[in-house]
Amino acid sequence: MVNDILRKIPSTNEILEDHKILELVQQKGKIIIKDIIIKVTNNYRNKIISTSYHRQSDSKEDIYNFIIDEVIKYANSSEKKRLNRVINGTGIILHTNMGRAPLPKRAVDKINDVASSYCNLEYDLTTGKRGSRYDSVEELLIKLTGAESALVVNNNAAAVFLCINTLALDKEVIVARSEQVEIGGSFRIPEIIERSGAKMVEVGTTNKTYTRDYENAITEDTRILLKVHKSNYRIEGFTHEVSGEELVNLGNEKEIISVEDLGSGVLLDLQNFNLPYEPTVMDQVKKGLDIITFSGDKLLGGPQAGIIVGKKEFVEKIKVNPLTRMVRIDKMSLIALQEVLSIYVENKNVKEKIPIIDMLTKTSRTLSEEANILKEMMEEKIGNKIDVDIIEENNPVGGGSLPGITVKGVALYIRNSKIGANVLQSRLRDNTIPIICKIKNDGIILSMRTIKKDDYKHIADAFKNIIYEK
Ligand SMILES: *Cc1c(COP(=O)(O)O)cnc(C)c1O
Repeated sequence: MVNDILRKIPSTNEILEDHKILELVQQKGKIIIKDIIIKVTNNYRNKIISTSYHRQSDSKEDIYNFIIDEVIKYANSSEKKRLNRVINGTGIILHTNMGRAPLPKRAVDKINDVASSYCNLEYDLTTGKRGSRYDSVEELLIKLTGAESALVVNNNAAAVFLCINTLALDKEVIVARSEQVEIGGSFRIPEIIERSGAKMVEVGTTNKTYTRDYENAITEDTRILLKVHKSNYRIEGFTHEVSGEELVNLGNEKEIISVEDLGSGVLLDLQNFNLPYEPTVMDQVKKGLDIITFSGDKLLGGPQAGIIVGKKEFVEKIKVNPLTRMVRIDKMSLIALQEVLSIYVENKNVKEKIPIIDMLTKTSRTLSEEANILKEMMEEKIGNKIDVDIIEENNPVGGGSLPGITVKGVALYIRNSKIGANVLQSRLRDNTIPIICKIKNDGIILSMRTIKKDDYKHIADAFKNIIYEK
């Protein structure tokens, strides 16, 4: 019986000749599709043998069709693992799962131009000799932040690690209990300090830490007073923390290095956009911190990078740490960072040029206008087959920045009497350009803050396809 069924399984070559499969071969190449066919038929064969999955009624044709469908499904699902553009309808501006900051056009154009050719990454065009890959961004960072020196590495996790490893190896780092941050993707301050070869000395309590706590913990082995931004949580109620200035004063008095992991480095005063005050990198440099580290792809709005700015004597030591080479930034990120920093230095229409800042600072009025445009486009395509309402909602910023703060936003609330919210959400995720959205009650929410004008047409088309079952 089992053998009867096994005999009906089509051969790989037979499947390869099917017209639907030929189409897939055209798109993805024969090697990949052949591989998938072998996997699918093997799975089917094993299932028949191991589970006595006997559906005797299955004709040769049924089995053939089943396998073709499985191959197509498999091929499409492997496509979903490739990195592709998605439409972010969650309203969360810095979504770590969606690549944090989208880059400014100028950065992408520059990558396009420079990365497809050779470039002067480590070649000094003045002397014709070997140069440093960091020169260009270092100069920009010094200009922008007022720091004496700067260095850029792969990400902020690496930046923090390098600082501690360079300046406190086998020595002590004092950090407040309230600042033992864990950031998504297993960045945990206690573990980073331990792995960097230093000893962590915890001070204060969960909610309150005073300068005297740091002072009492200082020994002859203390090398760093570390301050860490509470990027993704807030402590409320009776709290006290030691300010950057206080840490700097204590450090200066005791000749101990003050370091701040600022998390999301902001280069603009967010109060200008009616947002709460967030310490800028410039403010922290002015306060006199010896070293400040921050990310390139959070509120800065650039590529993944870890930026270190501070006193020359310390930054120079970090530069020559052999581990720095291991976490060096790649040329594409460096090109993007150079362009993003240039936008800040030039200081003309920064808000319009940097997508993260543009999205963060959009007013409810602008968002409402945009919501109306998208709503109309959808209604043009699908008439009244779907209910679209414009609603107010609050957008968290996400990505380890501005914890507990939401900005007033606007969203489309979309329902269909026949298609449930869960199905709608998963169909949108299956769209050619996947659309990611949240569910609310019996409908889905598309937040306007993170949706670009270019996305509107794709969204309207996606709904049309879902409604008309294409
Ligand atoms: C986000 C964050 C990090 C990690 O930065 P990456 O650039 O993601 O490596 C470290 N510390 C703080 C306080 C952060 O907010």
